[in-house]
Amino acid sequence: MATQYRAFERFPSRQLNIGGMSLGGDSPVRIQSMTTTDTTNVKATARQCISCFRAGADMMRIGVPGKAAVKSLEKIKKEIREAGVHNPVVADIHFSHDLAMDAAGIADKIRINPGNFQGPGTRPEHLYSILKPLTEKCRDHGTVIRIGSNAGSLPEHIRKAHGKGAEALVEATIEYLNVFRALDFDGIVVSVKASSAAEMIRAGIAIAERMKHEGINYPLHTGVTEAGSGTAGRIKSALGIISLLDRGIGDTFRVSLTESPEKEVEFAKLILEGSSTNSTAQAICPEGDTIEIHSDETESGRLIADSVRQYVVLPGRFKKKKLLIKAPHAVSRNFCGEIASYLMQAAGISNEHTDIISCPACARAGADMEMVCREVKARLPDVPAARIAVMGCMVNGPGEMQLADYGIISTGKGSFRLFINGVKVAGSFSLDESIAALQQYIPTDKRNV
Ligand code: SF4
Repeated sequence: MATQYRAFERFPSRQLNIGGMSLGGDSPVRIQSMTTTDTTNVKATARQCISCFRAGADMMRIGVPGKAAVKSLEKIKKEIREAGVHNPVVADIHFSHDLAMDAAGIADKIRINPGNFQGPGTRPEHLYSILKPLTEKCRDHGTVIRIGSNAGSLPEHIRKAHGKGAEALVEATIEYLNVFRALDFDGIVVSVKASSAAEMIRAGIAIAERMKHEGINYPLHTGVTEAGSGTAGRIKSALGIISLLDRGIGDTFRVSLTESPEKEVEFAKLILEGSSTNSTAQAICPEGDTIEIHSDETESGRLIADSVRQYVVLPGRFKKKKLLIKAPHAVSRNFCGEIASYLMQAAGISNEHTDIISCPACARAGADMEMVCREVKARLPDVPAARIAVMGCMVNGPGEMQLADYGIISTGKGSFRLFINGVKVAGSFSLDESIAALQQYIPTDKRNV
């Protein structure tokens, strides 16, 4: 039985203007990426933004970890405009209300995180006291705010009441939305991200349904956070994003890879290209427990995106235990097998590989995360059912450690914190020491532990 791509119906989000670019409503789905440079290096950050915009990014997010970074933000935006590029620039803010206030006068959009942007207490009136001045500043400057909830950094009172999954992500976001609504501020985008594709899909559907139920329709930004790198990272990202796009959910998205942002943009374009086609998918669900996907794609990124797209729309796929990808022009049959096994793992059907959660790095990262991730992948065994988190800083680091079996967080200057089963190992370690310690702890097959 061959199946047809479903009609591409959108969640009816309201239209917003972000620095002259429309988002939501009938606007195209927008691609976002994030810089990995030190924001105080104005030239390097502006260059990376321009390169990503020219590669196809619609908007770029820039980490703003301190006062020096917020000063640089103004210069970066100026350099980008002087290069003739007018796409929106987004400031990524954690912890500091002062930085948010400063960035709101410069960036086209600011992202705040409910997990670390709380008031002096946990009652709504505490949130009013910090969000009211911010909405006034944003209103004056036409700046949009993204409520960016992340499973790795949920507010403590939400975690206690709702856990660490989709329900908690939705509740953290709704708590903020209610305050913004009471303040009559509607320049809002929402996102509910998790490092598991399945959790992120559940959260995306749940927030869209909740908004519909409450008669509100803010644009949604989606993406699998800290998806990793290479084939596994692309498959996880594609599965999460395409599953939501297929349901009409997602006005903007980010492919989050521990690689250069240009590579994120390149793969994001492949996801979008397929989502708007009317071509006939080749996936076949024969009798028995096997799905077959047939693809004529030759290039690896296209083959991944096409395979995930065909898988997502196939009815009854969760009842099938085996996936065969038949792509006669693929680089190799091994690559087809690799896509199939990582796709089944991302979908929660199998667990043949170590699940690597790795942050894509930003201005806050304490180490070269691409190198760290490469070393971890190369020197640790590929253990079925194990989950290893490799994080660049304390924003989402401690939260991800609670969701992983093993993990390391960079604390800067070549030092790492080490976690085994969510518990911190006393002391500070070099990367070599951290990997050597993990080699001792990790069993050969966690399914048998
Ligand atoms: S966890 Fe990684 S991507 Fe997230 S803020 Fe820290 S360094 Fe940046």
